[in-house]
Amino acid sequence: MISHLINTDVGNRGMLEVYLDYRKSNFDFLQNSARILLDAESVLLVTGFPVPSEGIPETDGPPGTLALYRALSQVGKSPEILTQESVKAAMMSFGKAFPLKFSDGDVSKYDAVVFVETPGRASDGNHYSMSGLKVEGETFDWVADEARLYGIPTIGIGDGGNEIGMGKIRDLIVKYVPHGEKIASVVETDELITSAVSNWGAYGLVAQLSLEKGRNLLKGWEEEFVVRILVRAGLIDGVSKKREVSVDGIPVEIHRGIVGLLESYVDWRLG
Ligand code: MG
Ligand code: MG
Repeated sequence: MISHLINTDVGNRGMLEVYLDYRKSNFDFLQNSARILLDAESVLLVTGFPVPSEGIPETDGPPGTLALYRALSQVGKSPEILTQESVKAAMMSFGKAFPLKFSDGDVSKYDAVVFVETPGRASDGNHYSMSGLKVEGETFDWVADEARLYGIPTIGIGDGGNEIGMGKIRDLIVKYVPHGEKIASVVETDELITSAVSNWGAYGLVAQLSLEKGRNLLKGWEEEFVVRILVRAGLIDGVSKKREVSVDGIPVEIHRGIVGLLESYVDWRLG
């Protein structure tokens, strides 16, 4: 049910078809991803998608990463974040209310890595937006490559096919997503969470972790507040390319609604 909610394709970008096909071969992707995190102590969270042609990172990715960071901290794990300097600065504007640890980039010391809405290289070696524009700016494919070398399990969370992790289902991206052949990433992760908005994929993972731990880790998550702070700190909507309190061109009320639905669902399931 959680996987259905996070793949509610309100933006109509082809991800519903991708999800329905993907789940035939990997029905338990949320459970499998949660298991990787529960078996880990230190977890590296990677995020940040510089929007072409502005090069300014978008509001999809960082909120989901912060929700995962918060949930993992609450269950005694040690998360750290790796992202572009501008996203780091935006995240730090939460200050003492939400103290964060950032990574020094030494991938070898982590037990698991999660990529949330992170551009992954396409078959021609470039990184693309969903509309096929070239991404300029810092990207993190090297983290996925190093994690593989060290044998560290990885999870990819994406919503368009052009993100790290989507290499696992490149054929489905080519089949269902516009410009799929050009934009689909070839970078694979061990587990992959598809979603209609990548933040929702991260919230879905938090919901699944909640069910496994018997504790609602979405409680107190203030979606609108988080997006508002990040936008004030300079992040933009990746679709409208404007500094407005929205994500992927979808108004913040919808995002708040999805978080509320997931939170209520977890409460109900936990009784
Ligand atoms: Mg995306
Ligand atoms: Mg997105």
